[in-house]
Amino acid sequence: MSRIQDSLPVLYHPLFPEFFRQEVPSETKATCASCTMCASSAQGAVESVDGVSRLFRPDTKCCTYYPRLPNFLVGALLADDSEAMAEGNRRVREKLASRVGVTPQWLSPPARYTFLYRNARQFFGRTSSLRCPFYESSQGGCTIWAYREAVCSTFFCKYVAGEDGRKFWMTLKTWLSLAEIQLSRYAVLQLLPDYVLSGRDKPERGPEVLTPEDLDERPLPEKEYAALWGKWAGRESGFYQACFELVRALSAQDVERLLGLDGSIELRRLEKHLRDAVAPELPGTLKLNPEVTVKWLPDGSVALGAYNELDAVALPGVAYELLVQFTGREPVERVRQRLRDEKQADLHEDILLELYRHRILMAA
Ligand code: SF4
Ligand code: SF4
Repeated sequence: MSRIQDSLPVLYHPLFPEFFRQEVPSETKATCASCTMCASSAQGAVESVDGVSRLFRPDTKCCTYYPRLPNFLVGALLADDSEAMAEGNRRVREKLASRVGVTPQWLSPPARYTFLYRNARQFFGRTSSLRCPFYESSQGGCTIWAYREAVCSTFFCKYVAGEDGRKFWMTLKTWLSLAEIQLSRYAVLQLLPDYVLSGRDKPERGPEVLTPEDLDERPLPEKEYAALWGKWAGRESGFYQACFELVRALSAQDVERLLGLDGSIELRRLEKHLRDAVAPELPGTLKLNPEVTVKWLPDGSVALGAYNELDAVALPGVAYELLVQFTGREPVERVRQRLRDEKQADLHEDILLELYRHRILMAA
């Protein structure tokens, strides 16, 4: 187990509610240093479908994603002069110099990237052309890890608590995204109020079509860029660091106020999903999930997937034949007794719970 806040940038620790000091199962199935989705160490993933590899490339892993970094996290990173952050700092400064996707609220992906990301299929983990600009491909790691944003902080390819774990981390992503939006807006409102008052902080959908400027990833024309940044144009790094100082000075109560009712509701959902992830209960009646994917392997075992295509469960073939007996028409204990009487076989409660967590068996 580890504390929830251990997965998040240190800046957040004093700002977030007590809830974040609670423990959550450590996601030990996502063995990032020796990536479980890459061929050399693959585990629990269906390796190919119709002869096409479903594994990830070692020079991308799951980092085929371009984060949208909120101003205050960029500022925290820029203010960190440690050796560990030197490369991340260099890459972020390079991004600032490009003036593409550089706004007072965010460092955002270029329009071209967003367009490709939305329209490509089956690419995740499998193409270097959508690799994150902060990914260090020779070592296979993140250069801005300590300041990563909501998506990167909460993504795992597999979850120890299966579907309950996935729901917990997805809800945490929603809560964190809300925090990033509100805290970045708060900071801009103090430093560059016209940006917020003119509605530039409203969420933008990515482009439907790309212009020549988008395709070439050209910066905004000088005049537009100057209008966007006002008196901070040319001093973007100082602006982001001022955002960091403003956010750092907030109290947990201030943050709660800024997140408002939406934050309270998501926190309640998080509390529920945490309970399910930490102490799951086996339903009284189970049935084999009709959506389950079944892949027979050459050694006679079977890979079953349900809640997540990246997290299949391998079982001996005979065990699958027992699972078929769970039809949702009788209680779990009666099915188990029948399997003992008729097939001299049993499925221990721990195994059933694991299959339920993966939603291979589901509540009837
Ligand atoms: S979370 Fe990403 S890096 Fe970590 S094991 Fe999974 S695919 Fe690999
Ligand atoms: S910011 Fe880091 S963790 Fe997120 S996609 Fe990029 S390299 Fe991966």
